[in-house]
Amino acid sequence: MRLLIRSGHLWCGDASATELAGASVLAEDGVITRIGTEDKDWPSPDEVLDATGCVVVPGLVNTHHHLYQTLTRAFSPALGCDLFGWLRVLYPVWEQLDEESAYLSAWVGLAELLLSGCTTTSDHLYVHPQGRTGLIDAEISAAAELGIRFHPTRGSMSLGTDHGGLPPMTVVQDEDEILADCQRLVERYHDPAEGSMLQIALAPCSPFSVTAQLMRRSAELAEHLDVRLHTHLAETANETAYCAEVFGVRPHELASQLGWLSARTWLAHAVWTDAGEIARLAAAGTAVAHCPTSNMMIGAGLCPAGDMRRAGVIVGLGCDGSAAHDASDLWGEVRQALLLAHLRDGPSALTARDALGMATVGGAGCLGRTDIGSLEIGKCADLACYPLTGLSTAGAVLDPVEAIVRCAVREASHTVVNGRVLVRDGRLNSPDLDDRVRRHRALARRWAEHLTPADPSL
Ligand SMILES: [Zn+2]
Repeated sequence: MRLLIRSGHLWCGDASATELAGASVLAEDGVITRIGTEDKDWPSPDEVLDATGCVVVPGLVNTHHHLYQTLTRAFSPALGCDLFGWLRVLYPVWEQLDEESAYLSAWVGLAELLLSGCTTTSDHLYVHPQGRTGLIDAEISAAAELGIRFHPTRGSMSLGTDHGGLPPMTVVQDEDEILADCQRLVERYHDPAEGSMLQIALAPCSPFSVTAQLMRRSAELAEHLDVRLHTHLAETANETAYCAEVFGVRPHELASQLGWLSARTWLAHAVWTDAGEIARLAAAGTAVAHCPTSNMMIGAGLCPAGDMRRAGVIVGLGCDGSAAHDASDLWGEVRQALLLAHLRDGPSALTARDALGMATVGGAGCLGRTDIGSLEIGKCADLACYPLTGLSTAGAVLDPVEAIVRCAVREASHTVVNGRVLVRDGRLNSPDLDDRVRRHRALARRWAEHLTPADPSL
C-alpha cells in the first residue's frame, strides 16, 4: 500500500530541523520511503492525500491520559476541588467501570485524539473495581478498531482508605492480582518490534494510592519483562506534603528509593521538581509527561519544563484525563505549552517548533521509541496536516509553523497512522462515530445518576 502526501509545508522534527515547502512524503506499507519536493519519478501511489495549504508535522504523541475519564467530564460535584477532593468525589462514580464503559470511553477519547492530529497515545487506566476484569483489553479493542498506535499502561491502586490511602477499598486490588494481570497483558499484547502498534507499560497510580512495595515490585517486573514504567509524581504541593509526612522524603527521593528513577520511566507532571531533582532526572534518563492544561486547570503549579529541557530531560506532552483537562485535545496542548512557558520564563522561552518538538520527538522519547516522532525515511508513516487556509490563520503569512500553533488552528485536516488515512478533511474515517458518541453520552448520564439522582428538569 503506497500513500502519497502531496504538496505540504513539511516540518520534519528531525535532528537537522528540516523544513521543506511544497514537499511530499511517500509511505509504503506504513513506513516513510521518500521525502522531497520532486515526486514525479517516485513509484505511483495507490492513494494521494492533498496537503496543499497545510503544514505537515510528525503525528503527535500523547504521553499521559485517562481515557475512562471522558465519562466524567466537567463533572459539577467535583469542580472547584483540589486534586484530592476531586478524586474523593469521583472514585464512587468510577466504581461502575466495566468492559463496556472502558471500551466506549476509550473509543470516544481516541477518536478525539485522532481528530487533533495525535497518532500515538498512552493511556493510564488505574481504576480496576473489585471483580471487574478485561478493562485494558476492552480499550485495546477500541484502539485496534480505530487504528491509532497505542501504549496502554496497566495502572493500579493497592492502598485504600483502610490503610491510609486515598481511594475507597472497592477500587483497590491485591498486589499479587495486579502483578499477575500486568504480566498477562504484556505476554498477550506487548509488541517490542520496530513499527509496533501496541506496547504495554506498568503504572502504579501515585504515592498516595499504592504501597511502596507495589512500586518496588512493579519496577522489578518491568525490568524482568523489559517494558516501561509510568506513574504520577510530584503533581501537587499536597502530594509533596503527604510524602514528607508518610515517607519522610520528597516524591523524587521516594521514587529513587523504590527503583523508579531510571531510563525505563516516564513521570506524569513532575510539577514540584527543584533544580537538584531536575539534574537527577537528567542523569537517570527519566522522562517527563508535561500536562500544561491539567496543571493550570487544577492549580497544580508551574512545571519547570523549560529548565528540564535545558538540563537534557526528555519532556513530552500529555493532555491528561478530565481531572483537569476535559478535552482529549493534544494539539491544544502544544499551544498551552507555549503559553505556559512564556508565562513562567518570558516570551522567548519557547518557540512553536520547540513546543511541537515536545509533542512529537519528546513524546516518542517518553515512550522509549525511536521509530516515531519525526518525518524521516525509515520511520513510521505517522503524520498530521494542519490547515493554513482557514479564518484563524488569515494574515499569518510569514511563518507557517508559528502560525498553526499561535493562531489556534482548531483541528487537523488529515491524520495518518501507519500509512493509513484515519482523518480526512477534518472527518474521522469511521462510520461508527455517531453511534459511539450516543452510547457514551447515555452511559455518562447513568454514571452521573449513580452519584446524583436524576433531576427531572435536565
Ligand atoms: Zn493523570
